[in-house]
Amino acid sequence: MEIRATSRTNLKALHRDELEAFAQAHGQPAYRGRQLFQWLFGKGATTFAEMTNLPKAFRATLGEVAQIETIVCTQLQTATDQTAKGLFQLASGRHIESVLIPDIEPNGDARRLTVCVSSQVGCAMGCTFCATGLMGFQQNLTAGEIFDQVWFMNTLALERFGKPISNIVFMGMGEPLLNYDNVLRSIDLLTDAEGLGLSPRRITVSTVGLARRIKQLADDNPRVNLAVSLHAPTDAQRSAIMPVNRAAATDLTALKEAIQYYTNTTGRLVTYEYCMFTGVNDGVDDARHLAEVVGWAPSKVNLIMYNPVEGLGFSRTPEAQLHRFIKTLVAAGVTVTVRRSRGQDIDAACGQLAVKEG
Ligand code: SF4
Repeated sequence: MEIRATSRTNLKALHRDELEAFAQAHGQPAYRGRQLFQWLFGKGATTFAEMTNLPKAFRATLGEVAQIETIVCTQLQTATDQTAKGLFQLASGRHIESVLIPDIEPNGDARRLTVCVSSQVGCAMGCTFCATGLMGFQQNLTAGEIFDQVWFMNTLALERFGKPISNIVFMGMGEPLLNYDNVLRSIDLLTDAEGLGLSPRRITVSTVGLARRIKQLADDNPRVNLAVSLHAPTDAQRSAIMPVNRAAATDLTALKEAIQYYTNTTGRLVTYEYCMFTGVNDGVDDARHLAEVVGWAPSKVNLIMYNPVEGLGFSRTPEAQLHRFIKTLVAAGVTVTVRRSRGQDIDAACGQLAVKEG
């Protein structure tokens, strides 16, 4: 990224080395850039005034040439199961949302605290079951805007549960691999020991299955987990509900090759996300086809109980059908987990709040 001494630079979009270059461009030693990094990503500073270990003159300069873009929480809903969903306004005025999902033990303690973050406003992928897909693509988020969602939810987790967040999933609004550079940059910020210091193994990037980008991620290897939103086990079924599958570059044949490349290159397994829809993809034959897909490479399946979105015409698979489906998968040797819908008494499906706001 080019650092120009004359423009008001958004410091929240810069890496540590870029902040060092920025400090030097303004006559400061490089370590001032590192101090800036610590304030922005380790202490969550939102003003230059609070950066008390920086010289006053430098803080005044920063006020003229730089800015700290932050997201603003405009609505916070909490469900009875303690899932919390935040609606945030970006500097552009557009809205995104993120969710804090606590995994509560019987004694009331939070075992895991997962944050689901957005990477784009809206989404170009147009999956027919998704509220965000209705919005179309509007903008990419900066690394700082992704970081801020986690920072906000981490603060909320500390307040409500007395412990920091433990996991991050890029499963909110948008297709993360279409905002590739900023997503990778945000992972750098989140895992930096002077930022939130999270382990990459606790971060999952979820993609609709963009084959070329999956290979790029394998090569860049940020050491995070990869989840692929499969949702249907054959090309015909998948193309019907996920337009991305209609292109040869991103159909199941391309996906298979990319996933094999990914698992061979990184040595990590892949998780297939499979949202269950009544009568669409939840039959016993579908389970058999899904088991074939799982056989492509080391992988497991996460079945998701759908949170219905009004007007889209999909409904959640009944429990009995879910059990038949699981039985078939397990008989075929597939590792399966089930994700129950959380926060059902709030607008918990991806994009619902922001769609309403839009
Ligand atoms: S499910 Fe994900 S990829 Fe598909 S439209 Fe929604 S946000 Fe985009």
